[in-house]
Amino acid sequence: MFWAERLAEEAAKLHQKKIQSGKPLVIRDEKTPSGRVHVGSMRGVAIHGLISEVLTQQGIQNEFLYEFNDMDPMDGLPVYLDQEKFRPYMGMPLRAIPSPDSKAKNYAEYFADEFKEVIKNAGFSPRFYNVSELYLRGKMDVPIKEALDRAENIRRIYQEVSGSKKGSDWFPLSVVCEKCGKVGTTRVYAWDGEKVSYRCEPEYVEWARGCSHEGTIVPFGGNAKFPFKVEWSAKWKVVGVDIEGAGKDHMTKGGAHDVAKAVAKEVFRVLVPYEFSYEFFLVGGGKMSSSKGKGSSAKEIADLVPPHILRLALASKDIKQAFNFDPEGETIPTLYDLYDKLAEGYFGGTKDDDYGHLFEFIHTSQVRKGMKKRYLPRFSTLAYLVQMPHLSLEEEVAKMKGNKLTKDDTEELKERVDYAGRWLKGHAPEKYRFELQKTIPANLSLSRAQKQALGRLLAFLEEKPDANGEEIHAKLHELKSSVPIEPAELFKALYLSFLGKESGPKAGWFLSVLDRTFLLERLREVVK
Ligand SMILES: [Zn+2]
Repeated sequence: MFWAERLAEEAAKLHQKKIQSGKPLVIRDEKTPSGRVHVGSMRGVAIHGLISEVLTQQGIQNEFLYEFNDMDPMDGLPVYLDQEKFRPYMGMPLRAIPSPDSKAKNYAEYFADEFKEVIKNAGFSPRFYNVSELYLRGKMDVPIKEALDRAENIRRIYQEVSGSKKGSDWFPLSVVCEKCGKVGTTRVYAWDGEKVSYRCEPEYVEWARGCSHEGTIVPFGGNAKFPFKVEWSAKWKVVGVDIEGAGKDHMTKGGAHDVAKAVAKEVFRVLVPYEFSYEFFLVGGGKMSSSKGKGSSAKEIADLVPPHILRLALASKDIKQAFNFDPEGETIPTLYDLYDKLAEGYFGGTKDDDYGHLFEFIHTSQVRKGMKKRYLPRFSTLAYLVQMPHLSLEEEVAKMKGNKLTKDDTEELKERVDYAGRWLKGHAPEKYRFELQKTIPANLSLSRAQKQALGRLLAFLEEKPDANGEEIHAKLHELKSSVPIEPAELFKALYLSFLGKESGPKAGWFLSVLDRTFLLERLREVVK
């Protein structure tokens, strides 16, 4: 079963009653926009988003909510920001920090906006909200009172579930300091049923300095916020969440989710949403944080592939398997090959298996409705073709197809050419890059066997001027034994003669697309 259908089925089973009552199931995911958002966060978006799409397809009402946690303190400085300008804001809620540009309302919104665009372009359409809305509108007031009244239970839960010991003067809340505006540096040490007493401690955290202010304040209406784990369960209650998974780092035994679950049951007395844990989505093998990460932001990765290929990367593996997106490796051509294979199966008639379902859901719900078969030229082949300026791509691809290109074929070709260009420009590995050498490479030196093999190839082509890729391939194969020559030596001679490097695209095909006069002339020159 396609994993999104499996999760949707399990969730629907758990929430049968709510579904029958006609109320929509609430699906939720969140991100703290503390900097440029890493593409890894798209995995959560895609998993929750696809569960939502599957439920919708099954006629089960649901709403997908995506939260930006703009009340979290700034606890790290992204390297790409003006360090001097932003250092004083360390410890402040992200929403209270100015935007790096002059357009966004604040720091959180600036980074959230960029991520929202990626989410929308990938075809997901959650309803976005900021956690500050919950605090400022008083929706968190009841859970704040409950948590303070039952602070002893929460201390015990921390100790029992995660082994973290909290003293009797620890309360599950951080006040926004009335003097310096920081929320990461304050410690609440007393609660009298109406107000909390707090101190803004200089050494409370390593990454920010408190101002030493001491005060007493009503902790409602946005004056204070919960620590992460308690806030998580409070949001299940306030938002009414039915389905919410998390990355495996939060789902370890005794980790954040376990603490949140215990608090939900014992303190807030709310049902824990249908849960699942998912593996990471990495870039180039690393799970970079928001504060570093150049080249691994959601925007940068999303710019490298069209939406359906991004969705394929996000959806092709089971949620228990990590995905490593390596723009500098084989990921992009491999994804295209996988896409082509899925398309072949789908349009070949196996629409109703797991691969067919995966193929449907990697297309945005708009595209899904009117999918048409079109010719899919192999991406890696196009990546070579676009580097040969003398070629008409449409003609070559029509030859590959064995028929004229339709309008849909041409559109597909244009898109693939565009993305092949982007890939070659910044990322493609060396072996995919080549430049046809206008003259014989200066240091070319071929052995007798190599010259002999190329000589025979020349004779073959002179005799058969319209030989196609397969025929040339067969000839090369035959030369190995008739000369004889080691295959590696033969191919090296060819690539060196035309590309000035020892490797290149599939030789028979490559030679067949070269300008024939040029091909013959070059062979004549190198066998001299
Ligand atoms: Zn302060």
